[in-house]
Amino acid sequence: MTKSTTPPPTLQQKYSGVPERLASIAQEAKDRLYSNKTAPESVPRQRELPRLPPNITREAFNGAISVLRQKLGSGNVVLNDKPLVDGWYIEHPNTHDAFHVVDQEELVCSAIVYPGSTTEVQSVVKWANKYSIPVYPISMGRNVGYGGSAPRVPGSVVIDLGRRMNKILKIDAENASCVVEPGVSYFALYEEIQRRKLPLWIDTPDLGGGSVLGNAIDRGVGYTPMGDHFANHCGMEIVLPNGGLLRTGMGALPGKDGTDNPTWQSFQPAYGPYSDGIFSQSNFGIVCQMGFWLMPETGHQSYMVTFPNEEDFPSIVEIIRPLAQKRILGNIPQLRHVVQELNVTGLPKSHWYSGSGPIPREVVRRHASKMDCGNCSWVFYGTQYGDDASIKTQMNIIKDSFSKIEGSKFFLPSDLPSEHYIHSRALVCSGVPVLRELDWLNWKPNAAHLFFSPITPTRAEDAKIVHEINVRLHQKYAFDLFPTLCVAGREMHYIANIIYDRSSDDEKKRAAGLMRELIAASAKEGYGEYRTHVLFADQVAGTYNWNNSALMRFNETIKDALDPNGILAPGRNGIWPKKYRGKGWEITGTEVGNAIGGGSITPKSKL
Ligand code: ADP
Repeated sequence: MTKSTTPPPTLQQKYSGVPERLASIAQEAKDRLYSNKTAPESVPRQRELPRLPPNITREAFNGAISVLRQKLGSGNVVLNDKPLVDGWYIEHPNTHDAFHVVDQEELVCSAIVYPGSTTEVQSVVKWANKYSIPVYPISMGRNVGYGGSAPRVPGSVVIDLGRRMNKILKIDAENASCVVEPGVSYFALYEEIQRRKLPLWIDTPDLGGGSVLGNAIDRGVGYTPMGDHFANHCGMEIVLPNGGLLRTGMGALPGKDGTDNPTWQSFQPAYGPYSDGIFSQSNFGIVCQMGFWLMPETGHQSYMVTFPNEEDFPSIVEIIRPLAQKRILGNIPQLRHVVQELNVTGLPKSHWYSGSGPIPREVVRRHASKMDCGNCSWVFYGTQYGDDASIKTQMNIIKDSFSKIEGSKFFLPSDLPSEHYIHSRALVCSGVPVLRELDWLNWKPNAAHLFFSPITPTRAEDAKIVHEINVRLHQKYAFDLFPTLCVAGREMHYIANIIYDRSSDDEKKRAAGLMRELIAASAKEGYGEYRTHVLFADQVAGTYNWNNSALMRFNETIKDALDPNGILAPGRNGIWPKKYRGKGWEITGTEVGNAIGGGSITPKSKL
């Protein structure tokens, strides 16, 4: 019997909480996770506290912090000198990476600052320039699998925007758009739209607790027809690394009598170079407001198709491509390996398999045969949109296409029991944020995960190469392979979720080794990642090296022009300011693995 944990906060209690409708589900998810936990909630910290930013004395740091306290109020500047607690998805830390890959104490900030307005963000940035202290902005800091709230440079000051800047500034029902601050989660935006009874959908990722703004600038995805979050944003307000303020898009044109421009959330590029892109996955600015398009609500129908053989994989991809290009597929559907039907039940691996090492294919087959999906190898989750007649037409074409694969089977949610995962997909694919995907983490005790996320063309031969690299290397490093493919008409995000026990240095070292080799092996074949954990950012950025790394040189030129003192998120996305470059900060070899178990990723040399 699971011991009950303290109740997770609701949205009424905390901006980062869960909606009332999910309170008991969140409690159960938390109980399940904690019942699987063998590691202590926190361990005594070994190093001097707080961890200092590079190149600064304790005296100078203390002086700078007291100045910051005067500017923002002492309650809004908090030192990171207490025991570190990983917590869980809803009660997550802003002190470090809860899913630590290196030691828990390595990727930590020195302090956290909570600005309450764009003006206060400007003031923090000016302070950082004056005292040469690196700052690292987060919106909500949930970024699970990609580094959480951890700064790349230990000892940076985290600017936690979400705690005090969490307003929905505008919902324009006629324009089907909204403007949000960094601390607005998918849960909060969804609940507000429901409260106002507006016929609008949001687009949510698999988990609904993330920041709408933070996810979009990290180029996250969701699953309605508006699943490309960055592509569906319209207008930003940004604090630049020198403290200056910029509005992009139509926001650059002042509205009448000092109002916001009336077309700020209507037309993306405005006039001149389209600058928004450089503020996504970068360290060129701090986004304080962002506009998004919403989707008018519509009819929808989710479904699942199963395919019997491992070898069906390339044929499935070939069938999806024209369906997606012709926009018959209504959203970005997911293709998953059947092993995930086991793990989305939320039951631990030990329930299915008592041996060590990856779960054998035969064992998966034995269990799957007794489950709703049956003895299959691949499972496709799709959703169609529109009125009943058009959904019917689309579904007929889709059924017809997939039926070319012998043994494929088609299911509607009504064919499957209420606890089946399809019901959670149906919600996500119609813009309802949920928590179900957390159940992955019950697979192992103390589970954390890393995402390996390469992009491949939607083409059988490419998909096979990337899949085979994953199969081979997961086997080599003894991890279960959990591939999910988010498939569009021309490209697929192949997402492998590497689940490891964060209390085991051996598992961490193997997870880090696996990531490193996956990135290198895929790049050799011409495939690159769309997003990665902060610790692998240098390696991934380094694979985009065409023409003597022209792209990185271009990024560095922009970085040095905008941030000459190198204070804003140094190293994020592999972009290092001049001050840090070539001084041992870039992680290009085995540094991550070597640092696990008492080492450090921080170079000894001075800046
Ligand atoms: P989420 O809570 O949605 O997962 P985060 O707040 O963790 O998102 O943001 C993901 C990453 O994007 C952060 O680690 C940070 O590097 C960057 N980021 C987040 N918010 C901002 C922002 N407002 N301005 C600039 N960069 C940001």
